[in-house]
Amino acid sequence: NNCKKEEILKKAKELEVEFIHLQFTDIMGVMKNVSITIEQLEKALNNEIMFDGSSIDGFVRIEESDMYLRPDLSTFVVLPWSSHPKEARLICDIYKSDETPFDGCPRNVLKKVLKEAADLGYILNVGPECEFFLFHTDEKGEPSLDTHDNAGYFDLAPVDLGGNARKDMTVVLKQMGYEIEASHHEVAPGQHEIDFKYADALATADNIMTFKMVVRIIAQRHGLHATFMPKPKFGINGSGMHINMSLASLDGKNAFYDEDGYLKLSQTAYNFLGGVVKHAKGFAAVTNPTVNSYKRLVPGYEAPVLIAWSASNRSPLIRIPAKRGNSTRIELRNPDPSANPYLALAAILKSGLDGIKNNIDPPEPVISNVYHMDELEMKEKGIESLPSNLYEAVQALSKDAVVKEALGKHVSEKFVDAALYEWYEYSKYISEWELDRYLRKF
Ligand code: GLN
Ligand code: MG
Ligand code: MG
Ligand code: MG
Repeated sequence: NNCKKEEILKKAKELEVEFIHLQFTDIMGVMKNVSITIEQLEKALNNEIMFDGSSIDGFVRIEESDMYLRPDLSTFVVLPWSSHPKEARLICDIYKSDETPFDGCPRNVLKKVLKEAADLGYILNVGPECEFFLFHTDEKGEPSLDTHDNAGYFDLAPVDLGGNARKDMTVVLKQMGYEIEASHHEVAPGQHEIDFKYADALATADNIMTFKMVVRIIAQRHGLHATFMPKPKFGINGSGMHINMSLASLDGKNAFYDEDGYLKLSQTAYNFLGGVVKHAKGFAAVTNPTVNSYKRLVPGYEAPVLIAWSASNRSPLIRIPAKRGNSTRIELRNPDPSANPYLALAAILKSGLDGIKNNIDPPEPVISNVYHMDELEMKEKGIESLPSNLYEAVQALSKDAVVKEALGKHVSEKFVDAALYEWYEYSKYISEWELDRYLRKF
């Protein structure tokens, strides 16, 4: 660690870095940062930078507000778009003044569940597929819902401002060390997806946070507004954040692959799947944390509604992509990019581990397009739906001891309070839809 410290100090000096952003993520998934000057870097690397936690949403009470930032030295990177002065960032864990990890830090929450997996002999690998919209901004710089682009899935639209912005985003991400596997126009006008290579869950959660920051900044430089809001427009696809995941055993082998298993999946994979299916309602509030998230989870827009899995069809919650061997994985399709990636991965992993520990079998796979399944057939097959709104999701979370344990007492309580507050605020609001529908009618 000392040698890593020296390396960072040297690199910062060589590259003439002037400012370092010490970043962390709050419970609601918003990136926060404390910026320091280069003179303070050594102090930061020695975990000596303090901040007042009481002003961060859902953190702590005034009395216990002195918090320390502990940079993860492996996350040091220079921000490629900064020129004069050069800036770098470090992602931090939050520690209390007694030098123990703070329970309200989402990164600590994920680390705890990862430790539990490691004790069982597994590492979680995750590859996300982040989708987003690029909208034009008006004269005042405010985002609109206009896209001026009529391209669709995989289209190459030469006059598309969004396409140029996306190209720049991939260039910057590559400079920051990302391996970009795919970048394409998505189904809806103005909608894009950039996929980067899978990594262990912690690195991926960090990568998702950084990705969102890069996408927003580069979009802005193109006069566009990038949004990860799950369903910004009625009548077209929303933005998901599919989570492709597999467990590796400590020797590096993919623990989901079994040459002799049904569909060449291992018992471990089936039990993990069983746990994820069992807790899908319980973790929905975490993977889909906004009121708007549930407007995406409706039939007809490639987003899941029913809690089912399939080896091929894309309409259910979970799909098993065709790749086998080391690429064997399951794709969870309900998460959206408004989720806090640390908490979402903690909740999903904990659910899968529950399946492994308790030998939970998944239900039978579905083969048809489940958008067309009626209530009777669902009942016969014992298939349930994801929560249909944030309120239902919070109720399900409150009843799910496993998901609550994944988040820990501090985070689950703050999370539920914040989500309920959000729901009640929303419930009081009168939408345009209601006015259109009822103002003349009654
Ligand atoms: N945008 C879709 C969703 O909401 C996914 C589309 C796709 O990647 N096939 O999940
Ligand atoms: Mg994709
Ligand atoms: Mg996609
Ligand atoms: Mg996908």
